[in-house]
Amino acid sequence: MRVLHQIHSYILTRDLPISTLSFCLSKVISFCALSPLGNILYAEKLLYQTPSPNIFSWNSVIKGFSQSQILSPTQPFSIFKTLIRKGHPNPNTFTFAFVLKACATLPAFLEGQQVHSCVIRSGFCSSSFLQSSLVNFYAKCEKIEFARRVFDDMQERNMVVWSTMIGGYTKVDMFNEALDLFGDMQKAGVVADEVTMASVVSACGGLGALDVGRWVHMYIKKRKIVMDTKLSTSLINMYAKCGSIEKAKEVFGEMSAKDSRAWSSMIVGFAIHGHADDAVSVFADMEKSKVKPNHVAFLGVLLACAHAQLVSEGRRHWDILLKSGIQPSMEHYSCMVDLFFRANLFDEACTFIKNMPVDPDPAIWRTFLVACKKSKNMEKGELAGQRLLELEPSNPENYVLLSSFYATCSEWSKMGHIKKQMRDKGLKTVPGCSSIEIDGVIHEFVLGDWSHPELNEIREVLSNIVKRVNSMGHIPNVSEVLHDISHELKEEALCEHSERLAIAYGILKTKAPVVIRVVKNLRVCGDCHDVTKIISRLYEREIVVRDRVRFHRFVGGTCSCKDNW
Ligand code: ZN
Ligand code: ZN
Repeated sequence: MRVLHQIHSYILTRDLPISTLSFCLSKVISFCALSPLGNILYAEKLLYQTPSPNIFSWNSVIKGFSQSQILSPTQPFSIFKTLIRKGHPNPNTFTFAFVLKACATLPAFLEGQQVHSCVIRSGFCSSSFLQSSLVNFYAKCEKIEFARRVFDDMQERNMVVWSTMIGGYTKVDMFNEALDLFGDMQKAGVVADEVTMASVVSACGGLGALDVGRWVHMYIKKRKIVMDTKLSTSLINMYAKCGSIEKAKEVFGEMSAKDSRAWSSMIVGFAIHGHADDAVSVFADMEKSKVKPNHVAFLGVLLACAHAQLVSEGRRHWDILLKSGIQPSMEHYSCMVDLFFRANLFDEACTFIKNMPVDPDPAIWRTFLVACKKSKNMEKGELAGQRLLELEPSNPENYVLLSSFYATCSEWSKMGHIKKQMRDKGLKTVPGCSSIEIDGVIHEFVLGDWSHPELNEIREVLSNIVKRVNSMGHIPNVSEVLHDISHELKEEALCEHSERLAIAYGILKTKAPVVIRVVKNLRVCGDCHDVTKIISRLYEREIVVRDRVRFHRFVGGTCSCKDNW
């Protein structure tokens, strides 16, 4: 920096014409702003001291601030505003691109929108370079419809902007849109790279679309797209989420270098599939290979222990977590509470909650309430319910849980009171929705929605199933149907549960040994779980249901979760 000061004073002491002076200073400013040896604050000072700085100097300082990420993160934007206010020099495409990039990183939606209007006013709105920046900015802000509007206006689209748009859709869980756009990208003849493919693979995982996922995997191999760690990890996640843990294992085994994300994806994959021993042993391998477990790896292994009631393993990993220096998150605490409750260690769970250094969140109180429901512990359950309604008075799930708790304890008037509260507040539960992929097309079934074109056929299969299942001595468990309706109607309501429609559709459209794979947005209810077990035996079909929390693999009348979920 001392040399720079000397150069600076040297320039100032020479009697240079204004344009030469501005040119020389712009070089110094650019060096100060962008070189690791420079100083961005000094660059800013120089910028404001230069009599008439050129646009190159302004751009350097804007870019320098967005790279340095020190000081106020909105600094690039305020320098941009100063430039606009001064009205001279005119910003060029780089100015806009740099400030948009800074707004995307934050992200700062309102500021970026102001930049967008300046782009339009400056007549640069058809520059594909800036349009790409805008798509990236809106996608990062998760304002996906704005991103799409700019994207659609583009005359020329390169691979990066396609990739950005597809990644943007995946980020906001608009998986169908991501896959559609990937189709359009192929039609446009643009070759995808590993970054694009990682987003496409994630979209398949989000949808639980195994057939499409497999096809995409083939595409990656055929096109010889670089299989980097990120893409391999997306594939592991996708296969695990689509219910094919074997394929996930295969991809994991083929990886030459595994980072903490790859390891943790494999651990979580085993955990949600109920392969607790595998999750624990992969965690041990991860430690052996000297990759530091991240918080997701811990979450996965604790989840696995909780589901399989491996109490001592769970405790052991909790100790490793505390020693690792990672601050346990609420999710980690939640897993431990869940572990104790599932293992019927009621007192230990309570002590654990009491000793938590942070206040338990609603998820922990829900776990608590479910445990009280199982043990019909009226006093503690009511307490948990009260806390829940205080913490989250507008979450319908809490009311449903509490009223079903009262129903289990045969406290009908209290149950009625909770249901009234829920009605008065106008709270509605999320309807159950299950989907199944047949020949690469996703069919969605929503509770109470009978709009599927093959409805009559599905109804026929369903009534056949009900007859056969009931003839096996199955008595529908209606305790989870909370409507004030007669028993027969409750049974009918159960039959309309979305997963049954999806499974019936799977039976209608496919033949063994094709696995029926269903994805459900909520937890599978107890009765559907029983019925699906029976279906897997009667129809000799393997049925895999992914619910909100985990996987259930039904084969020959039993489920991989061993009825713990
Ligand atoms: Zn059900
Ligand atoms: Zn199960």
